[in-house]
Amino acid sequence: MYASKLYAPTLREVPAEAEIPSHQLMLRAGFIRKAAGGVYTYLPLAWRTLRKIEAIIREEMDAADGQEIAMPIMQPSELWKESGRWEVFGEEMFKFNDRHGREFCLGPTHEEIITDLVRNEVRSYKQLPLLLYQIQNKYRDEIRPRFGLMRGREFIMKDLYSFDKDEAGLDVSYKKMYDAYTKIFTRCGLTFRPVEADSGAIGGSNTHEFTALADTGESEIAVCTKCDYAANIEKAELAVINAPAETELPLQKIATPDKKTIKAVIDQLGLPIEKTIKAVAFEDEKNRLICAFVRGDHEVNEVKLQNAVGAVELRMADEQVILAAGGVPGFMSPIGLNRKKAVVVVDCTVMAMKNTCCGANEVDQHYINADPQRDFGDVLVKDIRLIKEGDPCPHCGAPVKITRGIEIGQVFKLGIKYSQALHAGFLDENGREKPLVMGCYGIGVSRTMAAAIEQSHDDNGIIWPKAIAPYEVVIVPVNAKDSAQMELAEIIYGVMRKNKIDVLLDDRKERAGVKFKDADLIGYPIRITIGPKAVKEDIIEVKVRKTGELFNFSKTDYEEKLKQILQKL
Ligand code: ATP
Ligand code: MG
Repeated sequence: MYASKLYAPTLREVPAEAEIPSHQLMLRAGFIRKAAGGVYTYLPLAWRTLRKIEAIIREEMDAADGQEIAMPIMQPSELWKESGRWEVFGEEMFKFNDRHGREFCLGPTHEEIITDLVRNEVRSYKQLPLLLYQIQNKYRDEIRPRFGLMRGREFIMKDLYSFDKDEAGLDVSYKKMYDAYTKIFTRCGLTFRPVEADSGAIGGSNTHEFTALADTGESEIAVCTKCDYAANIEKAELAVINAPAETELPLQKIATPDKKTIKAVIDQLGLPIEKTIKAVAFEDEKNRLICAFVRGDHEVNEVKLQNAVGAVELRMADEQVILAAGGVPGFMSPIGLNRKKAVVVVDCTVMAMKNTCCGANEVDQHYINADPQRDFGDVLVKDIRLIKEGDPCPHCGAPVKITRGIEIGQVFKLGIKYSQALHAGFLDENGREKPLVMGCYGIGVSRTMAAAIEQSHDDNGIIWPKAIAPYEVVIVPVNAKDSAQMELAEIIYGVMRKNKIDVLLDDRKERAGVKFKDADLIGYPIRITIGPKAVKEDIIEVKVRKTGELFNFSKTDYEEKLKQILQKL
């Protein structure tokens, strides 16, 4: 390809709405242009990178016995109503009617369509396992489309669905996908961690998110500093912290005028914060009052709390509702809360505390020497605490670190959720009808491209990992009007192409400085410079974008040497 023909309009000024490097750089370097909020055109450079990512995905999906298909993007509402998700997806789904008034949506995901496909064709265990996948646009009317391709409303996803005859089969399919994802993201040159994630109502260790590590990421993950444990902070389990043994003291009420915060209470009483209990009150979608209690220096993990009480949504509780249940905001504890009006959930670490300080459910009053086991009465005891830096790893006990990342893929054991709802069954070895056991596995293809840039860029531009660079090598004749330079550049271009190296020749009649700047901005892994020295002194300069290393090769050895450099990249 010749740069003079390449449609890659660069930008000097980046729109203010581009907040993160991948968004800014893809606009500046001419990879994408916005069509509407969260909707983008991929220009040739972006499309080349996306096709390379897709090719890697295809190879690994096929190697894991996946079969590629293409399902419709427009999907009839009937299937979604059958699965019960037409309403659940709500505003996030783009819905429309055809000329006859029939309802459709633009597919945000394809569990319904594929389960319908398979239920009509698969009859026997002999046809299982079956792994089907596609790579196509998905549509989600995200509340906050932002960060360019990171959170789009139209984006490219690879989605694979596995169908097995039993849980053991699902375990095998899941493992295959987990391993394939590890290969895919490694081949794409990303730094990532598979992290345990929350699987909502299904529970258990049923899902992993593949997270590219990056400060700009929207996910927070807890990573062990010693073993390979990593979990989304919403999921990260925590063991009980056992308080040191103490003599049990009698419960005592004391006046704490206006001391509504933990800080104010400990200042007055001179207690360590580890001796106090914090209350947080929520209401759920069924308007139940849910009062959660954690140690004073801990935070409530709302996802764990939701799972503990089977709630779909939590909002901060209304003061009147708390008062009606016998709770006093600012002075709340389980003691005296009306169990008919409040669900009381206490973190397991709290239950191991002794002689603690908590509210007395009276204005300006706290208890000291409360003993949760002795004094709290009927409560639901669960791990509802949010992990924090330094907490012990649930696997090995070493301290965890909290870092940020970008969810680029997710593997999920669905079980029989959809096959049951949509009546997708098969006959087992004994001729008994059973529901198909399913898994789903997504990769955000366009998000992966953005994540690669978040991880690999500098002040001058993108630094593509070789495997997904739009072109691996750019040849820059310093002066394109100089016929000797152009001739040599053309020869090298031909040699690169003969070696099946993706190469771009920057034949534009621009100043060398401009071309060098563009090469750095677009982020080709290798730049070959052909200047007067190349022509007169046989010095072919090669620069590695990632390390800044410069090599001087000659006409006789550059071909071999370059192959070696590329191999190592
Ligand atoms: P998120 O939590 O970021 O909204 P999700 O968990 O809803 O994502 P999945 O349904 O698991 O997403 O979709 C599979 C993959 O598709 C995700 O791992 C992510 O890489 C990608 N993806 C999801 N939503 C978007 C989006 N709005 N824009 C770009 N990629 C997305
Ligand atoms: Mg996900």
